[in-house]
Amino acid sequence: TCPPSPCFLVPFAELLPGARVLLTGASAGIGEQMAFSYAAMGAEMVLTARRGAVLREVTEKCLTLGAKKVFYIPADMSSPSEPDRVLQFAVQKLGGLDYVVLNHIGASPFQMWNGDVEHTRWLMQVNFFSYVALATAALPALERSRGSVVVVSSLAGKVPTPFTTSYSATKFALDGFFGSLRHELTMQRSNVSITVCVLGLIDTASALEKVRGRVHLSPSPAAEAALAIIRGGAARAHEVFFPRWLRYVHGLWVLLPNPRVLHSFYNYSAP
Ligand code: NAP
Repeated sequence: TCPPSPCFLVPFAELLPGARVLLTGASAGIGEQMAFSYAAMGAEMVLTARRGAVLREVTEKCLTLGAKKVFYIPADMSSPSEPDRVLQFAVQKLGGLDYVVLNHIGASPFQMWNGDVEHTRWLMQVNFFSYVALATAALPALERSRGSVVVVSSLAGKVPTPFTTSYSATKFALDGFFGSLRHELTMQRSNVSITVCVLGLIDTASALEKVRGRVHLSPSPAAEAALAIIRGGAARAHEVFFPRWLRYVHGLWVLLPNPRVLHSFYNYSAP
């Protein structure tokens, strides 16, 4: 079995040259930043998201940054058959896998629950079931390489926050599934590690557009979030909180949940 190591003890840039990485949601935001960082460390990658033209641009930049090999495959994770197709493509192109980094999310509104059950079902497919399917299909390859599943989640997957009903539900589901799977892998003395990354507000275009004028929170840089995720995966950490102080926010919420304090971070006037 592989005990987790404190992230700061791992010279992670040295672990990653030649690492074979499948990265989802690689066309924008934190995923794009992770692609650039893995590239600069000399990784071999398969990138995926829906927009092929954007993936091609990210791929070209990754090659200039030092990636050994980069391939891309456009795929829409709302389709249940796509995870297997993407996984097979990655294993075939890279000859195996060391990291499966699950990062994509479907669009969801930042608003009061509007009763749209169909959207919630669709979002569960994109944000949760496709993660389960990708990780499941990857397990045999990761077992052979002593590899890692890295799941990008959110504080909204640890603490229920307003205006994020369906999104929060998908992230809680990830925490439950991958936390339970981690126990089972450990009990089976598996070689595979699972890292769940709990992020606060990050300055990606999509997130900033959603929350503009509606929260009293300062976003953290996407490039730093990307490095924290990569480092946590390389360290085989069980959980990564970024920014780091988020760990204490979560701990405080578990000990003393205070909705009034939570609500004070939101710009909302009651009707
Ligand atoms: P983002 O900028 O909106 O990027 C989302 C990525 O997912 C894009 O590459 C997008 O590419 C892809 N995508 C969207 N729909 C898809 C679909 N149906 N099938 C396949 N791919 C799809 O997101 P982000 O802000 O970087 O967030 C990345 C991760 O960090 C997410 O897991 C998110 O929950 C987490 N996180 C972010 C924040 C934040 O404040 N930004 C906070 C906490 C947690 P295409 O459009 O080309 O498909």
